[in-house]
Amino acid sequence: MLGARIRQGRAAAGLSLRDLAQSIGLSAMAISKYERDQAKPSSETLLRLARALNVRTEYFFRQSEFELSEVEFRKHSKLSPKDEDKALADVREQLERWFELETIVPASWPKDFTLPPDLPTQVTTYAEIETVAETVRKHWQLGNGPIRNLVDRMEEEGIKVVLTPHDGGKKFDGLVAKANTHTVVVVGSDWPGDRQRFTLAHELGHLVLNRRISSELDEERACNRFASAFLAPKGEAIRSLGESRSWLEPQELYLLKREWGLSMNGWIYRAQDLGIINKSAARRHWEFFAQQGEGTTTWREQEPGDPYPKECPRRFDQLVYRALAEELIGESKAAELLSIPLIELRSRRRMDATNAVGRN
Ligand SMILES: [Zn+2]
Repeated sequence: MLGARIRQGRAAAGLSLRDLAQSIGLSAMAISKYERDQAKPSSETLLRLARALNVRTEYFFRQSEFELSEVEFRKHSKLSPKDEDKALADVREQLERWFELETIVPASWPKDFTLPPDLPTQVTTYAEIETVAETVRKHWQLGNGPIRNLVDRMEEEGIKVVLTPHDGGKKFDGLVAKANTHTVVVVGSDWPGDRQRFTLAHELGHLVLNRRISSELDEERACNRFASAFLAPKGEAIRSLGESRSWLEPQELYLLKREWGLSMNGWIYRAQDLGIINKSAARRHWEFFAQQGEGTTTWREQEPGDPYPKECPRRFDQLVYRALAEELIGESKAAELLSIPLIELRSRRRMDATNAVGRN
């Protein structure tokens, strides 16, 4: 048990046996013995291990009460096996803290994800996906406006979202897994907000459209259509752009991106999907975007203007403070759950200026 936790912590930190051994002044053999439960580290060694792995010592004794299964990296992922291990270990660690919080504050995982009851049994055209997206918005009571905090909204609907910094130098393209019965979607914590949101909405598309798409349609394309329709509903998109256009100004696309959290490129696709611009007009936009940019980076690779802000989930932290307020947990458990030092927790509780906003 302790050994497995040390191994998991080492994988999460992306360290080899030798790296870890070196950083705490022991032999690789000694660490290997700890990991196989053939030797027990002293409490002082455990403290050094915790420091080297950037975890609190409680981490080594936490019971993991869930099974992570059906792990699926998205198709474009080019992660090395080592980076995959790192990402998965981090996902496990974050989920463990969620599961633990769930046992303390029952409201933390409010329900299992369910599909709206009135979805069509089969989708035979891409255009029908507009209605599917509207149905999900209605079921979630989102109205027609921009979705401000997609991560928190998905979690309220019973989908667990994990943001991980381990994306193997941006090679990672999101992943979906099951933790017990819960669906887990993982995206990069350092990605721009519009990429995080599109990936989340795309994965939601897979959940919603699963086994409903007729064989003539391409599932990935269908999920992309779902994602853009979910983020920027048809009626609002047409209201913003008009019914028929031949050219969309970059500044116009940028302002729409700021408002809806859908990329500028995503808006060009959206306009084409909705028949606002035709195919050749869309091509003119791609060509223009491929010519603009700084140095060798074009607008297609990196859009101009400020990036859309990253998703900043608040639910987990809020629930920890709620548990603290209701005296369900003490300060040291709260610090452990938030994965911060006790001194930092106390500073946040006092609302010290630098910490008032919380993490991320
Ligand atoms: Zn997909």
